[in-house]
Amino acid sequence: VNRLFHPENSIIQVAGRSVGGEKLAIIAGPCSVESEQQIVTIAQQVKAAGAGFLRGGAFKPRTSPYSFQGLKEEGLELLKIAREATGLPIVTEIMSMNMLDKFVEDVDVIQIGARNMQNFDLLKAVGQTNKTVLLKRGLSATIEEFLMSAEYIMAEGNENIILCERGIRTFETYTRNTLDISAVLAIKKLSHLPVIVDPSHAAGMWWMVEALSKAAVAVGADGLIIEVHNDPANARCDGQQSIKPERFATLMSSLQQIARIE
Ligand code: PEP
Ligand code: MN
Repeated sequence: VNRLFHPENSIIQVAGRSVGGEKLAIIAGPCSVESEQQIVTIAQQVKAAGAGFLRGGAFKPRTSPYSFQGLKEEGLELLKIAREATGLPIVTEIMSMNMLDKFVEDVDVIQIGARNMQNFDLLKAVGQTNKTVLLKRGLSATIEEFLMSAEYIMAEGNENIILCERGIRTFETYTRNTLDISAVLAIKKLSHLPVIVDPSHAAGMWWMVEALSKAAVAVGADGLIIEVHNDPANARCDGQQSIKPERFATLMSSLQQIARIE
């Protein structure tokens, strides 16, 4: 992943779209898939606002085993319905290697979440596919550790990797995590891989999402992954950090003033 071996920025091609080029890649959607109506409606709304990819968790890594764990296989089926309805490629998190064949078949981008950033067997397994992998930075991972995790994937032969800064643990508790905005600059200096920012999980509060998105663009992020929910108050996961589709549309218009969007 070292820029020494690859001076130009990598541009990842996925489902006819690119991540890492001149344009900003926007991935939007709910934290988790909850129902067909929910995911299809949100997919249509984020598409109308200009998003290029749909996110939605089917397998959720929750802190408590008693919290909603996702609709699992049914969630993947609903994501496919939303993709069919909108044409948006789907980005969703894998939790276990057992599901790899199904993910390779069903999804466009396999997300490896913060909690699995150093699940080395999982990294090697996705490295043996040619699917695009969205690798999120671990909760307390250094930039070096983050890049080494990407190296695990690339060492197996898969070069289609998108890195995601999603906030790290610090002494601060006001925000859910601390968005390490300088990590974007550091990673882009060290590596040729595209870097996107997740302002939703970084802040943990919906009202910070727009400003942090602009900050990410200002430092040269290649894209954003944003949680959008049509009924945040009743979301089964991460409602407090999810913006409504109308607010997402406003955010997209302001991003269009400062960047070209894929
Ligand atoms: C997510 O994107 O749904 C998620 C769980 O994020 P993270 O792994 O960054 O906590
Ligand atoms: Mn979430």
